[in-house]
Amino acid sequence: MKNIKDYNIEELKKEFTKIGEKSFRAEQVFRWIYKEKVQSFDDMTNLSLELREKLKKNYTMCIYKILKKQVASDGTIKYLFDVLDGNAIETVLMKYHHGYSLCVSSQIGCKMGCKFCASTGIAFARNLTSGEIVEQLLAVERDENIKISNVVFMGIGEPLDNYDNVVNAIRIINNPKGINIGARHISVSTSGIVPKIYQLADENIQCTLSISLHATTDDTRSKMMPVNNRYNIEELIKACKDYIARTNRRVSFEYALAKNNNDNLDDAKRLVELLHGMLAHVNLIPINKIENGKFDKSSNENILKFRDYLNAHGIIATVRRELGSDIDAACGQLRRKNLSEVE
Ligand code: SAH
Repeated sequence: MKNIKDYNIEELKKEFTKIGEKSFRAEQVFRWIYKEKVQSFDDMTNLSLELREKLKKNYTMCIYKILKKQVASDGTIKYLFDVLDGNAIETVLMKYHHGYSLCVSSQIGCKMGCKFCASTGIAFARNLTSGEIVEQLLAVERDENIKISNVVFMGIGEPLDNYDNVVNAIRIINNPKGINIGARHISVSTSGIVPKIYQLADENIQCTLSISLHATTDDTRSKMMPVNNRYNIEELIKACKDYIARTNRRVSFEYALAKNNNDNLDDAKRLVELLHGMLAHVNLIPINKIENGKFDKSSNENILKFRDYLNAHGIIATVRRELGSDIDAACGQLRRKNLSEVE
């Protein structure tokens, strides 16, 4: 059966025309799902009983079940959802003073193989569909009875390796007739799939692009992130400059600091040269050590020195507050769990 949440509003209208329904019915259904947040076609009371039956027969509402919910001491919540085919995904809710931010997964597993990330080493199962991405948001809003204000594609998976579904999910989340989260409040984080960055700039969505840079030389970056062997730093920065020029949006660079690996002042100096003159922001993250990982966290002192060097040389840099580390929900700690592991 088709997932009704896989359709953006234009596609849903076309689909309704195909099944012999008026397109305004599609708008009504869209509203029920994303504004009223109903969980069944039966609750869509302005549709005829006949239409409700037809929808029930042909589409699923894709309502996730919570397999596990962990609350960290700082209020961060990690969800493990049953995606209804035997697989499970993780989604993290973070509370900031400016609102709720949701970190969503885009794939079940990840193919990128970054050496410092807990999602590496688990077999890639499949892409999530648009509806499966969107349902993470609805399921959390239902569970906590809140309105999410920011969405970041920083959970499990490489969003640009599931490009079409991610872009479509953004269109659904962004639509004023539905969830209505502004594109500027949606961030897509990538390990650096260069051709897809050019493509994203063409979509005219205005979302924030976040680049997992993590190093300033190809040698170091390739040792951390195999994707660098395909698209090196120079090509990556060129694509970012193009993104900025065409979208007029500031690009965010993630830089996870690992002791004696990428955290000395020579790195900071090279980073300043790389980003010189760009509309950019650097997010410094103390790297989270994963099980058997070879990268250790930089000292706080080093992290602050690194930040201060960047700021003193015209690059805006902040140190990301670590949220949810006591429940393995901080950056890069998410990993797909088998259902059998869940008690
Ligand atoms: N595949 C995408 C998005 C998922 S990872 C990407 O690579 O950007 C989200 C962010 O967490 C990325 O910046 C990633 O590099 C970072 N990350 C992964 N493992 C980490 C770790 N152990 N410590 C700190 N950050 C990590």
